[in-house]
Amino acid sequence: MTKKPGDDVVDVAVVGAGVAALVAAHICRAAGQSVRLFDKGRGPGGRLSTRRAGTLRFDHGARSLSVKGAEPRAVLEKWIREGLVGEWTARRRGASEDRSQWVGTPAMNTPVKHEAGCQAVSFGCRVVALRPVGRDWVVWGEGDSPLCKAHRVIVAIPAPQAAELLDGTGFEHWRRVAAVKFDPIWVAMFQGPEPAAVGFETAVGDDSVFRAVDAQASKPGRPLDQAWVAQASISWSRAHLEDAPETVEALLRTELQGLFNREIFGPIGVHRWRYALAANPVGEEALVDRSLGIACCGDWCLGDTVGDAIQSGLAAGQAFEEKAVDGFAR
Ligand SMILES: Cc1cc2nc3c(=O)[nH]c(=O)nc-3n(C[C@H](O)[C@H](O)[C@H](O)COP(=O)(O)OP(=O)(O)OC[C@H]3O[C@@H](n4cnc5c(N)ncnc54)[C@H](O)[C@@H]3O)c2cc1C
Repeated sequence: MTKKPGDDVVDVAVVGAGVAALVAAHICRAAGQSVRLFDKGRGPGGRLSTRRAGTLRFDHGARSLSVKGAEPRAVLEKWIREGLVGEWTARRRGASEDRSQWVGTPAMNTPVKHEAGCQAVSFGCRVVALRPVGRDWVVWGEGDSPLCKAHRVIVAIPAPQAAELLDGTGFEHWRRVAAVKFDPIWVAMFQGPEPAAVGFETAVGDDSVFRAVDAQASKPGRPLDQAWVAQASISWSRAHLEDAPETVEALLRTELQGLFNREIFGPIGVHRWRYALAANPVGEEALVDRSLGIACCGDWCLGDTVGDAIQSGLAAGQAFEEKAVDGFAR
């Protein structure tokens, strides 16, 4: 039987299941609202993502969780207490001191997978339109299929995709969303040398081609293999944005062989993040249109880190509440 729009009515529909979306959904549920999330991907996490190739695993999105500010920090501490996040200290190339950071354990998407487990999330659902019906919204998926009807919608996807989705809805902040630009990052995933053989586990920002090159085994809870992830710099990624993956693989192989001063024999997988890091964030926690019942959130509201996404998700989750909901981190 075909579903009709309105068969399924919830208080809040959330577009996306990245960290901002899941934090927002958590807050709404804690306030007693019914919530459904839709993500075009196969699993939760968005840019907090880990890819497998055979037995190897690669954190090919965010390499660590950069979190500042009291509220995002409380969320991070909750994840640490729950054993979903661990401390990562890697031997740095050309540095006398190692700096420790926080990472999902055993994979970057572990904390978001945990949060998604408590939520009603539909994967493989790209939202293509939001259409008003009375004072509610019908969320439409591909193939002209209604996904659900909702009193309010939280859009938690990168700004360029949000601008496309919200075009024509009358969202009062649409121009501010559309003005946000993102920088791309090409990422390479490969089996490289033993860190002991090259004398480092991580190389950060000291190269015009690479912004970071990390031995995955140096992170807590990972298998002791030779999986490496290299993130190309923003300027290199911009210059090669439209190159074919084979071209990027060949170019990065040459650069990596130079960095390690040895050959890389196996395959190098590459991934293009077209929307990796916001270049000109909005400077507001979340963009809310109360008369339409739509809120927009994501890292790009405030910056380009996981902490910014958490802060923005918290603000969007609170947006339609009469009184503040008592936090996320209990
Ligand atoms: C290569 C790289 C390195 C990074 N390094 C760091 C780092 O070291 N430290 C740090 O803190 N941050 C880092 N970041 C940034 C960090 O990953 C982001 O700030 C954070 O993950 C953003 O979360 P979000 O929920 O706002 O968006 P996203 O993670 O992008 O989530 C958006 C979700 O929406 C879904 N979606 C999009 N369009 C639709 C649609 N139409 N319908 C349904 N679903 C849709 C996507 O599939 C995705 O799951 C890095 C990012 C990249 C790409």
